[in-house]
Amino acid sequence: MGLNKKSVDDINAKGKRVLVRCDFNVPLKNGEITDETRIVAALPTINKLVSDGGKVILCSHLGKVKNGPNEGESLAPVAKRLSEKLGREVKFIADYNVTGADTTAAVEAMNEGDVILLQNTRFRGKEETKNGEEFSKELADLADLYVCDAFGSSHRAHASVEGVTKFITAKGGENAVGYLMQKEIDFLGNAVENPVRPFVAILGGAKVADKLNVINNLLEKCDTLIIGGGMAFTFLKAKGYEIGNSLVDDEKLDYCKEMMEKAEKLGKKLLLPIDTTIADGFPNPIDAEIAVEVVDADKIPAGKEGLDIGSKTAELFADAVKSAKTVVWNGPMGVFENPVLAKGTIAVAKALAETEATTIIGGGDSAAAVNQLGFADKMSHISTGGGASLEFLEGKELPGVVAADDK
Ligand code: AMP
Repeated sequence: MGLNKKSVDDINAKGKRVLVRCDFNVPLKNGEITDETRIVAALPTINKLVSDGGKVILCSHLGKVKNGPNEGESLAPVAKRLSEKLGREVKFIADYNVTGADTTAAVEAMNEGDVILLQNTRFRGKEETKNGEEFSKELADLADLYVCDAFGSSHRAHASVEGVTKFITAKGGENAVGYLMQKEIDFLGNAVENPVRPFVAILGGAKVADKLNVINNLLEKCDTLIIGGGMAFTFLKAKGYEIGNSLVDDEKLDYCKEMMEKAEKLGKKLLLPIDTTIADGFPNPIDAEIAVEVVDADKIPAGKEGLDIGSKTAELFADAVKSAKTVVWNGPMGVFENPVLAKGTIAVAKALAETEATTIIGGGDSAAAVNQLGFADKMSHISTGGGASLEFLEGKELPGVVAADDK
């Protein structure tokens, strides 16, 4: 996947209609935005296009939109908050069809520097490109240029992410990436394709099955692969250890053996837990008080469940991070939602916070853990896209990235 993409700095928006795909998928409670991070994150790209004299047409999805459009998932609250943040009017087009007569009229009336926001793109129900040709074309008809700044949606070949780009190209327009998207490509792309070595990858989280391709791809790219969290127990079982009632994916035992052999063949270090924090069972509720003890990884008693890495493992993993130049981390080391079982995840986060290395946190739970534990400002980059960053680490081509013009 070519990563040298045209950015908002490479296009001339003056007097042009620019369609910008943002990620305004913000959490809402009773119609109120409870976390405006994504709105704030979108401002640099929007401000750049406004100050260049573009006519800025914003679009985004919000929520899952299961049973057709509904007012609860309207982007109206986003238009209001965005307007406050930008210090200028953001005209909202409420049409559930997203495109249509109202939208076209509003775009025609725009002056340089004006900003409008279209309705939730998923309301249209034809975001999948295979069904969404018509929608893709209608979006492209609104604009001269297209900018994608929604990394979190870039792994989907949707009309507003990918479909629209070929119609923009067909009429001689340009497709660029916004600043947010550029930062994701720079950090994740460099880490995976051109890392400063030693490159240490740390994977955790619940299931091996969710990360098969990530493990395989990163093993080829990194110097040291660290595996913790629930997924480590399938590796430990594959080594012949007793793992008690710990999380296991018996269908993936052969896969784990294969990965361990592959590491050996490639001369890569594959680090697994050497001790583990065990309890009688999974905490219920998840943050309930829980009695634990730490045992060596090959001495988990039958009936017990491993719920975090132990202190010796935390030290082993932290040591590997210390000498690294690039670190990518995806997935917690234990059930970090429980304070007693968060120690391993905290130790790894702390090691990343203290290293000189470039540190990149995959989205989703690892980003949540780093934020929740207070280490966010110590990381070089925290990805905004859970699924998208995982696919990037798998070495997959992301439709939204591929669709942007090369420089
Ligand atoms: P993932 O979505 O795959 O990144 O997994 C994140 C989830 O894995 C978190 O909710 C953790 O509580 C859970 N997790 C981490 N370690 C373990 C473990 N040893 N046993 C069970 N669940 C775990």
